[in-house]
Amino acid sequence: MTEAPLPKRHDSVEQDQFLTILSRDDALDRFEAALFPRPLPGQQRRLAEALGCALARDVAAPIDVPPFDRSNVDGFAVRSADLASATEAAPVRLILNEEVIACGVVPERPVLEGTATPIATGGPVPRGADAVVMVEHTEPSGARAIDVRRAASPGQFVSYAGSDIARGEALLRAGTIIGSREIGMLAACGIADVTIARRPRVAVISTGDELVQPGEPLRPAAIYDTNGAIVTAAINENGGEAVFLGAVPDDETRLEAVMRNALAETDMLVLSGGTSKGAGDVSHRIIARLGQPGIIAHGVALKPGKPLCLAVCDGKPVVILPGFPTSAMFTFHDMIVPILRRMAGLPPRPDAKVTAKVPVRIASELGRTEFVMVSLVDGADGLIAYPSGKGSGAITSFAQADGFLRIDALADQMPAGTEAEVTLFTPHVRVPDLVIVGSHCTGLDLVTAPLARAGILVRSIAVGSLGGLAAARRGECDVAPIHLFDDKTETYNTPFLGEGLELVPGWRRMQGIVFRSGDTRFEGRSAQDAVRAALADPACIMVNRNQGAGTRILIDRLLGDARPDGYWNQPRSHNAVAAAVAQRRADWGMTIAPVAHASALGFIPLAEEHYDFALVAARKHRPAVRAFLDALASHEARAALANAGFRPA
Ligand code: AMP
Ligand code: MG
Repeated sequence: MTEAPLPKRHDSVEQDQFLTILSRDDALDRFEAALFPRPLPGQQRRLAEALGCALARDVAAPIDVPPFDRSNVDGFAVRSADLASATEAAPVRLILNEEVIACGVVPERPVLEGTATPIATGGPVPRGADAVVMVEHTEPSGARAIDVRRAASPGQFVSYAGSDIARGEALLRAGTIIGSREIGMLAACGIADVTIARRPRVAVISTGDELVQPGEPLRPAAIYDTNGAIVTAAINENGGEAVFLGAVPDDETRLEAVMRNALAETDMLVLSGGTSKGAGDVSHRIIARLGQPGIIAHGVALKPGKPLCLAVCDGKPVVILPGFPTSAMFTFHDMIVPILRRMAGLPPRPDAKVTAKVPVRIASELGRTEFVMVSLVDGADGLIAYPSGKGSGAITSFAQADGFLRIDALADQMPAGTEAEVTLFTPHVRVPDLVIVGSHCTGLDLVTAPLARAGILVRSIAVGSLGGLAAARRGECDVAPIHLFDDKTETYNTPFLGEGLELVPGWRRMQGIVFRSGDTRFEGRSAQDAVRAALADPACIMVNRNQGAGTRILIDRLLGDARPDGYWNQPRSHNAVAAAVAQRRADWGMTIAPVAHASALGFIPLAEEHYDFALVAARKHRPAVRAFLDALASHEARAALANAGFRPA
């Protein structure tokens, strides 16, 4: 193993603060310098078992392919000079030689002047012949001769030896992924075994007392271990062989034992969590004891992703990804995938990056490389990278994102219209056929279900009604679901449409007071009565809605001047209100009936909210948009909506 000299660091061990924050490029340079060059371990494989693996070495062709001059057609091997004068009107007669060259037959007689030898497709061209004529262009003349009605150029219908692959030619380069085409090339050269790059074995460990594995019941205050699954998959997608070791509690002794064992058994260690400075965060301290040179970067100027920790322990990379799944993904794809691929003998993945135009200005913090999640949609001229999360506060979600872009540390913004490079989470991305941007509703899924079954890819991006309207005005989506109440006209949605947008009625959602069943302050009362009872009880806590939500206007009207406990808790969705009540963080709030019922909560209906669609007129003739409008009007969708507690308009 080659050990490149490391830049001097004296503060890498036992540091309990991020003493030195390195820039992204600095951190990556130092990490690479500590790891490369290194030998690429190879492994002999039978050709049939090498599918999907990377070649560890260049392969040169040991033979010519084809190995001899070969006929491409069924016909006759001839001397082209004999046929120089042949035409339809004046055919040339050739005497047939006494042999037939089938595939696999070695010719024995030469083709002399004025003669021809019958030859099959794939047969070796005999001595003396320099062309083949197709049987269709000849006519038998007795048993022993043919008439040829057109001239033949030298080399006609002959594949020369080595024309496909020449002996000694670099057939395949190291790093090539072996697919069926490569297997075919190798087989054509008679190669039965290849040296493939051994997939690096990478141990994956999640850390945190709060983590529960998928499939297990979720205890209170626990969360599912997302990183373990996602990092394991991403390692396998990028040439590694992940060994998932589960989630380890924040216990220094136990974690150290697991890390030591893992490092002994594998080529690389990827942990997640435990890098921020919470009381239980210990893994970075353990690394300092695992091997030399130890921590190379702990704290990188990334947003998000600052707690990233890069280390090398006796030649093996050890990485601690930030705990937040999105931060873990950004840093893993941006900084760890290139290292892993290099260790696996793979070139950078070309299909993992696309260029797309960013339609809106994205503000960015100066001094930190910023990652921004994006959804890709099809624009008039090329891909559009729609920042998801930004503005809606949902940066912890990658459900709707295709990848991310990177804003340079020295930039304080990415201007609207920038052509940005987007790193895809999973290559083979498919741009959606129908783009829905706005307020989300579970009813939407009922309408789009048949589209998905018909192979139409639907992307719905939840950015709230106003965000949806803005996207629709910019032409970045097909429809924007909105539920905006206009105080002045006391109407929904129509007053908010502008030029180029048309209203397509959706459905009505009953809004009302949600509470835990059996709560006598609410059960069996009218909304006004219930709020009166709630206000009369100082122990009663409410959950509000955000400014601008139509539901908020209803709440404010019910409350008048009252500002009960919980008033300032203002989540942005109907679901968050129901969750707060169900989890006893609040006793009442206002949500829509289907959401209350889905959480088995009590509900006092008050007023209907109109959930409609702002349709981008310029896009309404697209097949996917028409399919959506048809689905919306269909009996099936209306019945499904009604069944779920909505009232189709
Ligand atoms: P930490 O770096 O351990 O302080 O984690 C930061 C945040 O990420 C916390 O909210 C953790 O609960 C969360 N987190 C850590 N590890 C995981 C994981 N494997 N899956 C999902 N969330 C995680
Ligand atoms: Mg933790």
